[in-house]
Parts: sequence; structure tokens; C-alpha cells
Amino acid sequence: MTDTRLKNVVIVGGGTAGWMAAAAFAKVLGSEYSIRLVESEEIGTVGVGEATVPHLKLFNNLLEIDEIEFIRQTQSTFKLGIQFNDWGRIGDSYIHGFGTIGHDVSLLPFHQFWIKAMQKGMASDIGAYSLNTVAAPRGKFMASATDVPATSPLSDIAYAYHFDAGLYAKFLRGYAEKRGVLRTEGKIAQTLLRPHDGFVEAVVLESGERLEGDLFIDCSGFRGLLIEQALHTGYLDFTHWLPCDRAMAVPCEKVGPPTPYTRSTARNAGWQWRIPLQHRTGNGYVYSSAHISDDEAAATLLKNLDGRPLSDPRPLRFTTGVRKKFWNKNVVALGLASGFLEPLESTSIYMIQSGIARLLSLFPQRDFSEVVIDRYNAQATFEYERIRDFLILHYHATERNDTPFWNQCRTMSIPAQLQDNIRLFKDSGRFFRNAEEMFAIVSWVQVMLGQHIVPQSYHPLVDKMSDKDLAGFMASVSHVINSCVDSMPPHQAFIDRYCAAPSMAA
Ligand SMILES: Cc1cc2nc3c(=O)[nH]c(=O)nc-3n(C[C@H](O)[C@H](O)[C@H](O)COP(=O)(O)OP(=O)(O)OC[C@H]3O[C@@H](n4cnc5c(N)ncnc54)[C@H](O)[C@@H]3O)c2cc1C
Repeated sequence: MTDTRLKNVVIVGGGTAGWMAAAAFAKVLGSEYSIRLVESEEIGTVGVGEATVPHLKLFNNLLEIDEIEFIRQTQSTFKLGIQFNDWGRIGDSYIHGFGTIGHDVSLLPFHQFWIKAMQKGMASDIGAYSLNTVAAPRGKFMASATDVPATSPLSDIAYAYHFDAGLYAKFLRGYAEKRGVLRTEGKIAQTLLRPHDGFVEAVVLESGERLEGDLFIDCSGFRGLLIEQALHTGYLDFTHWLPCDRAMAVPCEKVGPPTPYTRSTARNAGWQWRIPLQHRTGNGYVYSSAHISDDEAAATLLKNLDGRPLSDPRPLRFTTGVRKKFWNKNVVALGLASGFLEPLESTSIYMIQSGIARLLSLFPQRDFSEVVIDRYNAQATFEYERIRDFLILHYHATERNDTPFWNQCRTMSIPAQLQDNIRLFKDSGRFFRNAEEMFAIVSWVQVMLGQHIVPQSYHPLVDKMSDKDLAGFMASVSHVINSCVDSMPPHQAFIDRYCAAPSMAA
């Protein structure tokens, strides 16, 4: 029998995407495959990408990475969610927390009971019923406790990390190289295509070195060296829904203990992030160049830092959107080469992880069956579109009319499915989610409520609970959450005790 397995995988690019792919392939594919990564120090990496979502723990677990070692090496802090300031209205503040809210009763989600309780004046804001959203502003953090009953909110705490993405790539590089991945330093000058089918045959470095492969992973960042420059796959532009196309990024000195959450503050023409690491704080203003100049963006950013800036603001440009195909012929694009929605909900690194998992489950033979490629592309498109809609929701569900940017976002047309989802939620608080979607129903609920999309009614089965029991239910959930948060240590104390990074010059 002929061996139909492919043998040589070439990864183009050594940013977060390239090294995540290299590490995962080294672990899962093993030594029967040759895995080679080429990167150029001269070109460098995008150098941003510091906030993550809880799914990253699964990726690190797959690699059997020791969590404490990972945190220490990457200057990580913990993230319980994102605080959104000034989004729905100026002066607003709400938290999109990870994890659950209250607990469901007879298959009805907690927020259904909350809607009725709120209408009757028996409830506080939805954030009062989630461990993450109560703990975050109080600066509390701990990992899940093993010595409490399984019903305790402390037994399953959902969290992600803020980290230095450059240090994470370095950490994964060590991991991958130890497991046989070969790294080549150099700039790719040319991509050679097979004349008969247009598949990529090899990449040629400026030095003349030629790297041949069966499967190429394009992790070359925004330029999309293989997927776009060589294969001309095409790009779906989402600027009409996600209008920010630039960012200014600057780290600043850390002042005070790190918050266990990312902060996103809406500004006149976009929003500003604040991401606390152990040794410094990352900041950036994501904005629409149609509405403000680079100089104005830089000035706004510098005016709104917690501490002294550690460098000049660095400009970045992007076009929100995705490739028309994520996998084209024998090239699979991951990371920024595959598309970029924008960093509002920290989804890019997650999409790298998701792409790697999808590729491993649809790993091709040497014949690159079309049906396998089509399935990969369909799933990736679906996942991107759902995240895209979630991000659009943040911009569109606003009452702000104080700048042309917010007027445009508030009045723009939005994708039909998002429109339907908003209408259904407004009607009776119902929301449905496909199992393949990234964000949980509670994520959508928190953002909709946080930005004033208020359901008019609730599920009729809620009325099976008496008003007295409903009031008791709300009070008991809030009481349990508060006493759990009381018992949690401050975020900084938790880090100091378990996973403080070796001190380094910022
Ligand atoms: C403003 C901004 C904020 C962001 N914030 C977040 C966030 O908070 N959370 C999150 O999850 N994501 C975030 N992201 C996205 C995140 O930065 C990226 O998803 C992640 O860093 C992966 O980048 P990459 O590896 O695809 O590309 P890059 O880091 O650009 O790496 C590209 C690699 O390709 C190599 N390369 C390119 N051309 C050649 C060539 N000709 N020859 C050889 N090598 C070459 C480069 O040397 C480099 O190694 C943000 C992005 C931006 C723009």
C-alpha cells in the first residue's frame, strides 16, 4: 500500500501564532513528522496581544504546561472579565465576566428569573449574581478551591490571563524546539508554486535556502505571505461593521496592584484598553482613522494612562475582516494572516488555538481532500461570524450621540442574525447559541444588559415560582456570592504567594 500521509510541515512566521502551532504540532503529531518554522528577527512580530480568554488554559493543558511556570515566565496576571466603561452611555460601567451567573432552575437560565425580579424591584444589577463580576472590582482573585462543596461558586472559577505575548512565544519556542521543531532564521524572498495545481512547493529565503513542504501554515501576520501574496485568496472586509482600523499602543509603569480584569473605555472614536501585567501595564487606543488623526489618538492615549509611559506610542494599522478561505490548497492561515476582527473581546489568540484544534481534527492526507478543506473553512467562517456579531453588538448597542463615530455605530445596519438575536432578547430575554460558538449565552446577556437592551418580558415558566420564593432566591444567590468573594484573597496577594515572576527591568 502507498503511504498517503504527509510528512513535512512548514510554519511560516514565529509570532504567537507560529509558535503556538509549532508547540501543538510537536506535542500531537510527534517525531514522525518533520516540523520546521521559519521566522525573521529583522521583520519581527506585531508585539501586541496581551489579554486572553479562559480557553487558553485548555491549550496549555493539552501541552501539559505547568501553569505556575507559565505565569512566572510570561509576567501573567489573572483576568476575571472585562470592564466596559462609557459604552452604552457616558458614565456607564459594567463587567463582562467569565463563568456563570447565579444558577439555572429547571432548565431555565438564571437571567430569566432575574428579569422578573428586576421588574418587581427585588433584584440588583445582574453583575451582583456572578462571582467574577463581584470579585473583579474588589480586586480579589483565587483559583478554584478543591476543599469546598462542588456546589460552591469557589469550586469552579473561570479565569484567563493577561500576559506578555512576546514572552509566551518565547516560552513556546523553548517547548517546541525541545520536542524537535527546527527553526530557521531568515527572510522569505519567494514562494514557489507547483505549476500543475498551484499548490505551494517551497519557500526560498534571501540566503537562497529552499524549504520544501507538504503542508504550509501561514503565520506571517497581516501580510499573509502565502495565503494572500502567493495564493491571492481574497479578504472579506468588515470595516462597515467594525470601523476601527488603527491602534496606538504604549506600555506604562505599573502603579498599585494589578486589577484582575481588562479595562475597556469607550473614547470619542473608538476605545482604550488597559491590561495589567506583573511588571507593567499595557495600553492602547483602538480607533477609526476616518474620525480622528493619529496625533489625536496618541494624545488621548497618553492623557489617560495610570503611570509614566515606558516608550513612545506605537502605531498599528489593520483592516477588520477575514480571508475568503482560511485553508486554500496546501496552505492553512493562522493568526493575523487569517484575519483580524479587532481586540475588543481578546479573541485573536483564541482563534489561533481554535484553528490549530480544527486543523488537527481535520488533519489532511497528502491528497488534500476538498471535503476536508471545505469543512475546515465552513467551521472557521461560522466561528468568526459569530464573534464578529458579538463585537458589533458592543458598538451598535449604544445611546451615545456625542461624536460622529458613535452616531455612525448606533445607526449603522447590522447583520440580519444579530438583528434577530437582539429583537428576541428585547422581547423576552431569550437567546440561543450554537454549540460551536465561542461566547456563552451569559456573555451575550451581560453585554446586552450592560448596554441597555432590556427585555420587556420573561419566560412564562418563571411564574411557577412565587414572588416570595423569587425574592428569596435572588437574595440567597447574592449572599452566597458575597460571602465567597469576602473569603478570596487580593489578586496581588495570590500572585505573590503562588506565581510571582522573577523581577525584570520593565
Ligand atoms: C492592536 C492590537 C491589539 C491586540 N490585542 C490582542 C489581545 O489583547 N488579545 C488577543 O488575543 N489578541 C490580540 N491581538 C492579536 C494578536 O496580537 C495576534 O493574534 C497574535 O499576536 C498573533 O500574531 P501573529 O503570530 O499572527 O503575527 P505576528 O506577530 O505579526 O508574526 C508574524 C511572523 O511572521 C514572520 N514573517 C513575516 N514575513 C516574513 C518573511 N518574509 N520571512 C520570514 N518571516 C516572516 C515575522 O517575522 C513574525 O515572526 C491584537 C492585535 C492588535 C493589532
